[in-house]
Amino acid sequence: FLDPSRPAAPAVALTIAGSDSGGGAGIQADLKTFAALGVYGCSALTALTAQNTLGVQSVHSVPSTFVTAQLDSVLCDFSVRAIKTGMLADSATLRAVVTALARCADTPLIVDPVMVATSGDRLLDRDAEATLREELLPRTDLLTPNLMEAAALLNEPLASDPAGLWRQAERLLALGTKAVLLKGGHGSGPLAQDLLLGPDFSEVFSRPRIDTRNSHGSGCTLSAAITAYLASGLSLTDSVRAAKDYVHRALVSAAHWRLGRGSGPLNH
Ligand code: PLP
Repeated sequence: FLDPSRPAAPAVALTIAGSDSGGGAGIQADLKTFAALGVYGCSALTALTAQNTLGVQSVHSVPSTFVTAQLDSVLCDFSVRAIKTGMLADSATLRAVVTALARCADTPLIVDPVMVATSGDRLLDRDAEATLREELLPRTDLLTPNLMEAAALLNEPLASDPAGLWRQAERLLALGTKAVLLKGGHGSGPLAQDLLLGPDFSEVFSRPRIDTRNSHGSGCTLSAAITAYLASGLSLTDSVRAAKDYVHRALVSAAHWRLGRGSGPLNH
């Protein structure tokens, strides 16, 4: 019972994100990932979505004052080791998050710049893209955009080749984030390639592309897994590598599932 080799408590991670009633993405994916990786998860909800595997039917935003209240409750009580953001809905919510996070400036912050669901539904107001770029990115330790989100943040067309990908990653770094993981999973070809770029390091991660329609929540899961591994004490590069493996396993083992009639979830 009093085994000194056992840690007194698990590491704590915090997700600031939206709810997916279908359970595949958002807060639900984040908390499942944290639990699967042995990390204790706290959460602050920014929005509720009425959602299933076919798409988002409705969005109900949480007032930004209540986002602040949730963050104050968690941050004044728990020793949070890593934080991620997902769906941030609008500018008022974004600003509430930036203000609340000022009290834990040394805690690693992973920002998944969720803008539009795969189904095409908007999860961040268009006018909030500038707020994300100007107010959240300077406080970000790792930004995890897919190709579309990178292009939107830079007001540029989609990168179409590896050189274009590097250029966009460099421009995202110039916006103030300390590192960027540009995810090529939405591209084409037999390999899914992601580029991790920091001020003095880079790494390309390649995995065979998995042929499945069950990829709903894969972006949320990747950023949550990175957050969990960082909270557990791994370095950034090791966290990204381990998180890529986690998502790969979660995609492969749910590839044959029939949960819902659309793009189904991963297996955590
Ligand atoms: N719904 C919520 C609440 C999310 O946070 C996200 C994720 O990023 C999505 C939906 C989008 O999921 P996907 O694009 O993987 O279908």
